[in-house]
Amino acid sequence: MSQTQPISAMFVPYGQGRARGMDQAELGSHGVEVDRLVAIGLPVVPGFTVPVSQAASLARPDVAHAAVDLLQQLAGRQIGDPSHPVVMRLLASTSVTGATGAPVDLAGLGITTRTAALLDGIVGGGALYDVFAAVIRYVGEHGSGVSGDDFADADYTATTHAERAAAFLELCRAAGHPFPDDPAEQVALAAEATLKRWNSPRARRHRRGQGLPEHLGIALHIQAVRIGPPDAAGHGVAESRDPVTGRFDPTGTFRRGVRRTANDDRPGESLEHLPGGRDILISALRTLELHLHGAASVEFEVRDGELALLAARKIERPAPRTAIRLAVDLADAGIIDDESAVRSVRNEDLEALLHPQVQLTGREAEFARGLPAAAGAAVGRIVLSSDRAVEWSEKGDAVILVSEETSPGDLAGILAAKGIVTSRGGLAAHAAVVARGLGRPAVCGATNLRIDHANRAVLSAGHALAEGDVVSVDGSTGIVYSGAVNVVPPRPGSDLDSLLGRADGLRRMGVRANADNGRDAALAVQNGAEGIGLCRTEHQFLGDRLPLVRRYLLATDTEEEAEALVALAAAQKEDFLDLLTVMDARPVTVRLLDAPLHEFLGDSAHEVNPMLGLRGVRLALMRTELYPAQATALFSAWVELSAKGVTPQLEVMVPLVAVAGELATAIEGIHGAAADIEAHTGITVPYTVGTMIETPRAALIADQLAVQAQFMSFGTNDLTQLTYGFSRDDVEAQLLSTYVERNLMPVSPFASLDPDGVGSLIRTAVAEARRVNPTIKLGICGEHGGDPASIELCERIGLDYVSCSPARVPGARLAAAHAAITG
Ligand code: PEP
Ligand code: MG
Repeated sequence: MSQTQPISAMFVPYGQGRARGMDQAELGSHGVEVDRLVAIGLPVVPGFTVPVSQAASLARPDVAHAAVDLLQQLAGRQIGDPSHPVVMRLLASTSVTGATGAPVDLAGLGITTRTAALLDGIVGGGALYDVFAAVIRYVGEHGSGVSGDDFADADYTATTHAERAAAFLELCRAAGHPFPDDPAEQVALAAEATLKRWNSPRARRHRRGQGLPEHLGIALHIQAVRIGPPDAAGHGVAESRDPVTGRFDPTGTFRRGVRRTANDDRPGESLEHLPGGRDILISALRTLELHLHGAASVEFEVRDGELALLAARKIERPAPRTAIRLAVDLADAGIIDDESAVRSVRNEDLEALLHPQVQLTGREAEFARGLPAAAGAAVGRIVLSSDRAVEWSEKGDAVILVSEETSPGDLAGILAAKGIVTSRGGLAAHAAVVARGLGRPAVCGATNLRIDHANRAVLSAGHALAEGDVVSVDGSTGIVYSGAVNVVPPRPGSDLDSLLGRADGLRRMGVRANADNGRDAALAVQNGAEGIGLCRTEHQFLGDRLPLVRRYLLATDTEEEAEALVALAAAQKEDFLDLLTVMDARPVTVRLLDAPLHEFLGDSAHEVNPMLGLRGVRLALMRTELYPAQATALFSAWVELSAKGVTPQLEVMVPLVAVAGELATAIEGIHGAAADIEAHTGITVPYTVGTMIETPRAALIADQLAVQAQFMSFGTNDLTQLTYGFSRDDVEAQLLSTYVERNLMPVSPFASLDPDGVGSLIRTAVAEARRVNPTIKLGICGEHGGDPASIELCERIGLDYVSCSPARVPGARLAAAHAAITG
């Protein structure tokens, strides 16, 4: 500033900052904010900014005098004039958005011993003295060094606000720092106190802790706050959207009288009672939303039916429903494009609306904690066996199945239960995979949990619950609560469909679902899946079908084996008819049997490492009729449906391949089955064949496999298990939480695809496969196919599609769009 300019030229009246070429570095976040409000024509309280580079000079008496003069000019009122009363508010803001803790917010500067009684008479109830006392204490304690303890004692003894203000004044006087009666001197002292606090060693330490520059500057702001009677004046806060419905429907609270500095414990009134009516806020908030491209919150004051904004900001993390409806509203109105709309909604927002969610009060008792294995929440009585789950649920009880782990024989129990809790097993173990498929909330690997079957009780961290006691399961956080917690039902809506439709238009990758039967497939289609990326045919033999597959697997002679196979194929054809009917003309990937023997046969399987044993294509090589029988069931189902005009695109997939010859043998059997069908019916069934890539060796010899296959799907559950040598069933709860806690890995590789190791194998396989077979279709069907971070990696690697459990399909559609936008 040049010497010849008046002091007032250093102040920047609200709305003039940008015109003077200043930005947040000088104006602070509040200065920029009010500039924007003025620019879009909204009413702002009269005031000005003392920019960062000048802030220290406000402690000078001549500068403070000039400040008061300017404020009076802007407000058109004189401080101390009883007919048009006005006081000053001092606040500060920094150049860093999001720095926590307001350096100062002092309403009530300019009140003096001479005017206090008169002003209090206008507002009523001693409120003005409350504000006055706060100013005296702030200036006394932080500016003049009067002991905070003395203020606290005086505060404790005073019985009214007026008494308190008088006691504080006396304290300052006695300490040799009388509180000034001159408004400008008050401003100078308040500015000095603010800057002292801001530059104190403690404040600097705090900034360092926040990762902020120690010497970060602040801008000071002074506003004119008009004083009026409570029936015509007050102040409040409001948000543009109702957090429950997400609709534009301003909500908030309003308090009569003057702003207090400390938390005001008077209950606020609803906006309906606003003097001058709620409409004056509605148009301000609507204008703000259109300019901020987001939900808005404001602080305002009302005097004589006129609204003035004190502050306004964009709500950075609106409630989930608000985020979605707002994105759709703004896109519908052409204010933002589809890309911005989709980008503005996070996957967590979607999850919150798609699954039931617990609503905590803070008084809930945590019983156990495990892995968040399947999103959602449920309340029910503990049952310790699948049989009891079925029995009690048939009587109408909501039940939670609590078990060490689950196996295919537990399907009926899992279906009957509202939620699942296991003490063992990880995110890719049976209970987790099945619960996710069914959309049931599940907490798995709660290692502290012990089940005492003899006494029909469950123990965790010294607490015991009996079978029949009520628990609540939060599958999104992995916490089990004792007793019933409040659960909010899922709230999908047309706005969600509209948003996901826009996401579909932006994504490159396809999104399919893992579904094994008509019921799951119907949910998948309803959730927007474009096809089935994995039908695990062994899952069709769970529950009451289990004896069929057991009989086949345990057959001791060829006759018995053949008979069992016929029964198995017949049952399978029924299931295929069911599934394919739902999918109509969409693609359906049917994976031939991959039954880890222990899951089907229990202890009689006698394998030391069943997950590395006679599984997948290996069993088919030992039992050569198996895959052809399954393929025959599939093709004959297609023939039957095609007569009714239903013609799904069949893709037959071979699991757990590690050797090129395994795939060749399996494909030969599948082609043989198709040829037999053609010979019998005269119909050529269209289908493609492909392989899963689930073993590291398969990934490394992808070229040898790709010449035989028309598609490949990465089975990243097994691929992760085999790449790390981590058992997918056990290691998670026992080990990986420790690894994560110790920062050895950011997250379990079963939850989020490991970009370095497993990702590297996938990249190699993709490159090699495309080199020898450029048109090969490449996807993923492990659990990672529903995880947003893994989906982003799949986009970067260039896969053609992801496939995940039906309940995760909407999230995958959004995540695939996000990945395409940022990719
Ligand atoms: C996989 O291993 O990723 C996969 C999809 O197969 P499953 O989970 O059935 O072993
Ligand atoms: Mg697998």
